[in-house]
Amino acid sequence: MLLRSVLHAKPHLRACLTRCRHCRIFFLTHTRNAGRHDLRCPFGCRESHRKQASAQRSAAYYGDAAGKQIKSKLNQRRPRKYCAPEPPSEEPRPRRPKRRRLQWNPLMVQYVRMVVSLIEGRWVSRRGVLRMLARKLRQHSICRSRQIDQTVAWLNEAPP
Ligand SMILES: [Zn+2]
Repeated sequence: MLLRSVLHAKPHLRACLTRCRHCRIFFLTHTRNAGRHDLRCPFGCRESHRKQASAQRSAAYYGDAAGKQIKSKLNQRRPRKYCAPEPPSEEPRPRRPKRRRLQWNPLMVQYVRMVVSLIEGRWVSRRGVLRMLARKLRQHSICRSRQIDQTVAWLNEAPP
């Protein structure tokens, strides 16, 4: 496990190791939260808890299709305050924003940034993390394509 080797190399970060109170996954937390065991992990639990706590947030919050369903349910439940003409049921789909290269989950970026800062003992910028992630992803895809190449080569040499 990566986390274990990190803690082996940086024993002072052991205090930052905590466990999600919801899904029990281990993760590193900021030094200011060291020793706490009532935290939720940044891999979804924290976020879903926050969403639950503030269910009636602005419409902009619900971006994806699943969110729209929730939103329309919420709207149906809400009593109508005035008799506005019914909007046409077929609303034009909002145009998808153009993809800017890669989209990382901002929570993940935040988490990686914090962990890298803790491990390296220095401040790391968001942009720096994004650069690092992009680099890692490139390496991974290179590794993967090599692996496939090797497998193909191996299959050619020794067909099953
Ligand atoms: Zn969790």
